[in-house]
Amino acid sequence: MANPEVLSFFVSRVSSWFKLNGRPLPWRLNPTPYHIWLAEIIFQQTRIGQGMDYYTSFIARYPDIESLSKAEEDEVLRLWQGLGYYTRAINLLKTARIIASEGGMFPSDVETLKKLPGIGPYTAGAISSIAFGRKEPLVDGNVQRVFSRFFGLKIPVNDPKSQKILYRMAGEIIRMAEDASAHNQGLMDLGSTICKPLKPLCERCPLHEACIACVEGNVDLYPVKIKKNKKIDRFIIFGYCTDEGRIAIQKRDRSDIWKNLYQLPLLADSFNSTTIEQYAFKKSLLFSIYNTTHQLSHQKLHIGIYPVEEDFLISNKVNYTFIDFSMVQEIAFPVPLMKFLSSIPKSKSF
Ligand code: SF4
Repeated sequence: MANPEVLSFFVSRVSSWFKLNGRPLPWRLNPTPYHIWLAEIIFQQTRIGQGMDYYTSFIARYPDIESLSKAEEDEVLRLWQGLGYYTRAINLLKTARIIASEGGMFPSDVETLKKLPGIGPYTAGAISSIAFGRKEPLVDGNVQRVFSRFFGLKIPVNDPKSQKILYRMAGEIIRMAEDASAHNQGLMDLGSTICKPLKPLCERCPLHEACIACVEGNVDLYPVKIKKNKKIDRFIIFGYCTDEGRIAIQKRDRSDIWKNLYQLPLLADSFNSTTIEQYAFKKSLLFSIYNTTHQLSHQKLHIGIYPVEEDFLISNKVNYTFIDFSMVQEIAFPVPLMKFLSSIPKSKSF
């Protein structure tokens, strides 16, 4: 950890910069726990510009925890529509109901806050420090970046093991702050408006005289991140075989992607090709009826669907069973196959 003088420079500069330059965000006018919580949940995966109308609509419709707690889930989801990550909205309502049922007051301590649905360490730290002024740390991508550059940290910030270290640092730092609310909001704003991921505005930064990355002229080297493995390409060919309103399917049962889901009869599957067309050609399959790509966490799937006769499945020893086409919607298929099956008229032959 850096020496106390550096830490005290960091703390005093961040807080005083915030008091003069903090963004005038609506929840800051009256930073109640309800306002801070709502803003933190809405802006978790969302940029300020994108989420502002949602924040305004929520506050207009549900001005306090009591009114939100009485809302119907469908109503909350409709207001949330377009924002994505719908679990956030469901948890928002669950938490509102819990708090309302216990008297309507938010807890101020982090450990109790973290027990509420949808509230993780970051949101708990934000509510506790900003709304209640408690000296609680928070660490998000903005804070990671400022810390990494200012202190010249060599630990990879996207390694889960680094989170503990960063939280410990943030905890030691905030204990030195006179105003925990200003300090944490200052870190958030500094990270998003000055110490930006690309081309940080170091000349306007209150920390630049002592910032290791800036002084050494290598801000681009921070934050250090573990390189994620490049996704590998995988080529998968399915057969489309229908017979009088029925379609051939099979169950995936190997320990692999989509385990236990259903699929169209699998004709070929390989990591060794450059295009799906090339791969299909090698298998003597010429005219696909559907091609798509699908991203998984470690693989990029190239999928081709080719019309085949039942004789082809039998002669190539492909397992299959026919189901009535009307049952397709009731069976669990992987997303790309479900998209294909939803896009074709029932039992279409090619
Ligand atoms: S001086 Fe530059 S790199 Fe250092 S904290 Fe400020 S903006 Fe970030």
